[in-house]
Amino acid sequence: MVSVTDFNITKINRSKLNDINLENIPFGKYFTDYMLEVDYEDGEWKTPEIKPYQPLLLEPSLAAIHYGQAIFEGIKAYKNLAGEALIFRPHDNFTRFNISAERMQMPTVPEEIFMDGLRQLINLESNWIPAKVDHSLYIRPFMFSTDETIGVKPSEKYKFMIILSPTGPYYATPMRIYVEEQYVRAVPGGIGYAKAAGNYGGAMYATAQAKLKGYDQVLWTDAYEHKYVQECGTMNVMFIIGNKAITPNLDEGTILKGVTRDSVITILNEMGLTVEERALNIDEVIEAHKAGTLSEVFGTGTAATISLIKELRYKEYDMVFDVTTWTVAPKVKAILNDIRYGKTADTHGWMMKL
Ligand SMILES: *Cc1c(COP(=O)(O)O)cnc(C)c1O
Repeated sequence: MVSVTDFNITKINRSKLNDINLENIPFGKYFTDYMLEVDYEDGEWKTPEIKPYQPLLLEPSLAAIHYGQAIFEGIKAYKNLAGEALIFRPHDNFTRFNISAERMQMPTVPEEIFMDGLRQLINLESNWIPAKVDHSLYIRPFMFSTDETIGVKPSEKYKFMIILSPTGPYYATPMRIYVEEQYVRAVPGGIGYAKAAGNYGGAMYATAQAKLKGYDQVLWTDAYEHKYVQECGTMNVMFIIGNKAITPNLDEGTILKGVTRDSVITILNEMGLTVEERALNIDEVIEAHKAGTLSEVFGTGTAATISLIKELRYKEYDMVFDVTTWTVAPKVKAILNDIRYGKTADTHGWMMKL
């Protein structure tokens, strides 16, 4: 077991923060002064290092580049009104990371490395968390195989890293969504429930095709009938029909178990809505729209928290919404924000202090 004191820390001379204006920062473009790096070799994790953010020197034969044993996570740290740094539900991401690792035949990362590493890194970098509502520090843990051989087999060596990127307000404009019937993201027995790099590369062609048709994202459907709703791009999806919130269930392993999804389900329940996690056929969505009971559709995920869907297109049927009249999604977003910035009590224990 790696204890907290076993991390090797190499200090920087001057922070890049002096040169960056945290006011208008594009998502994922700037990285902080430090990164965490740990190598897995000979069946064990070596001593973790926290060192200046820098390029990696890798062999062209690197296994991850060829066969895609690569997984990641996305977490956010916030500064509350009292100026304290807090991380939103990182333990859930840690758990999910190791679920992804197992599915990709990669070693799991010990809690001492993932969680303590995260804490120590954020401690060093807390100046990079903008002390402003709608601002946060995006945390990107990832792991990839590092064998230097092009034989197709699980790698014996891996690298686990954490990098950090400050993010400003994410003005997610309401999206136009195309219900995808040709390409699929995930199948039962596949890797849809893992945050594996290949899932994202595999989705890009279909998304680009939808963009050519004028849409922002696709709503993925099941591989057999192209009827059952899965996810919206890289977000989980919620439908408000009558006084119910309906979101696809996780049983088939085709859906990423979002931490935001879980938080939103909790909040919706507390708001008095009935939340149903179940198979949802697009025909049911259309019928609800025709009956006037489909009131809101939105995506949930760490990057934008809640993204409103203003248009949903299925074959020739177009569902257009006036998002300015919506009440549920904006309220859920406000409740989540108030918890994150310490404006209301964190009754669920979601905010982890350093
Ligand atoms: C990361 C991700 C989500 C959202 O998960 P959060 O934990 O809420 O950020 C949803 N779907 C996919 C495919 C994802 O990769």
